[in-house]
Amino acid sequence: MCAIEAGNRGRRVLVLDHANKAGKKILISGGGRCNFTNLYATPDDFQSQNKPFCVSALSRYIPQDFISLVEKHRIPYHEKKLGQLFCDGSAQEIVRMLLDEAAAAGVTVRLSCQVTGIRREGEVLGFLVETDLGAVAAGSLAVATGGLSIPKMGATGFAYTVARQFGLDVTPTRPALVPLTASGRNLEFCRNLAGVSIPCIARCNGASFTENLLFTHKGISGPAVLQVSSHWREGQQLHIDLLPGLDPLTHLQAQQAARPKAELRTILSALLPRSFSEAMCGTYLPNRAMGQLSHQELAAVGHTLKDWTISCDGTEGYRTAEVTLGGVDSTGLSSKTLEAIKAPGLFFIGEAVDVTGPLGGYNFQWAWASGYCAGQYV
Ligand SMILES: Cc1cc2nc3c(=O)[nH]c(=O)nc-3n(C[C@H](O)[C@H](O)[C@H](O)COP(=O)(O)OP(=O)(O)OC[C@H]3O[C@@H](n4cnc5c(N)ncnc54)[C@H](O)[C@@H]3O)c2cc1C
Repeated sequence: MCAIEAGNRGRRVLVLDHANKAGKKILISGGGRCNFTNLYATPDDFQSQNKPFCVSALSRYIPQDFISLVEKHRIPYHEKKLGQLFCDGSAQEIVRMLLDEAAAAGVTVRLSCQVTGIRREGEVLGFLVETDLGAVAAGSLAVATGGLSIPKMGATGFAYTVARQFGLDVTPTRPALVPLTASGRNLEFCRNLAGVSIPCIARCNGASFTENLLFTHKGISGPAVLQVSSHWREGQQLHIDLLPGLDPLTHLQAQQAARPKAELRTILSALLPRSFSEAMCGTYLPNRAMGQLSHQELAAVGHTLKDWTISCDGTEGYRTAEVTLGGVDSTGLSSKTLEAIKAPGLFFIGEAVDVTGPLGGYNFQWAWASGYCAGQYV
């Protein structure tokens, strides 16, 4: 996006990437269909230590701007849910669109070229970019090397190294939009249910998401957990409403009157996956006939189902995290141009910057918007 905009302004632009293919993360995103934006993305949705920073770029390049580009290239798309827009066909169409736009803007893209270092050649001369294919001189430089997520795909902390070299701070980074891991009794519980998915409301630290929870061999995942993982910190519990929109006590009392001999797990199996109900009745809930449960016990069951707490030990880490929380401290950047205040001509965009969106097309919207805005000045 940044290269396209700069190229369209008549700048001579060279894009360097050590990957052997352009836009690798776009290609694997959204299960190969790329959730390229979100209709409802607003600056309020993003996490950052400097929240107001992202307002400018996200207001100047909005989801409809990217949708117009997609439509200009006649790429069919659909809304899956919650404003999340996906290609009908393949994520390759988005990469093709960007490469076509870049070619039309006169941009040169050089792949399989690792950038190893940056040297300042004086304010007028700009930068010397050192690569494994030789050095390149550049009047200005946009660092768009992303965050630490999925090192196997070529993610590096290069942006943070460059930021520090030029006197910018880097806020603490951690894996986000990532499955959580459990241990001991919790791990055994999750492992036995691996593959089972439950619609729920997951809450942690004031954030709440109505989505599915998925048990895995290592702990929990699914969209509800990925979302809440960006707000979770080590040692904290997740609070799960397993029956959104239902008053379980009223339901259980009615069932107790109608079917006193039925076991609690049978009653719960009508509301939740059978394997989950059976696992709950024997660990977190009593395993008895409805008629044998006192009012107090029924109320406790209702409470557990509305506020089931599960402790997690950690995350699956950058190996599977969709994004990196934190990054180049935006207080050192201009929110209008994305240029480093202390290093004129040096720009930071995309996931490298301490701006992180939730699941659902938000992180690409930030990448497009920040790239677009920097491209007007780089
Ligand atoms: C599995 C997965 C699925 C995702 N799905 C979605 C989704 O559907 N919707 C959404 O909004 N977001 C999604 N994301 C997040 C999204 O992909 C990123 O936020 C986005 O790609 C960030 O764009 P970027 O250009 O800042 O960085 P990146 O896309 O990470 O690009 C950085 C580039 O820099 C290159 N690079 C790094 N270091 C060097 C170096 N030293 N020299 C040369 N090149 C270097 C890398 O090869 C890479 O091509 C997903 C992420 C993952 C991991």
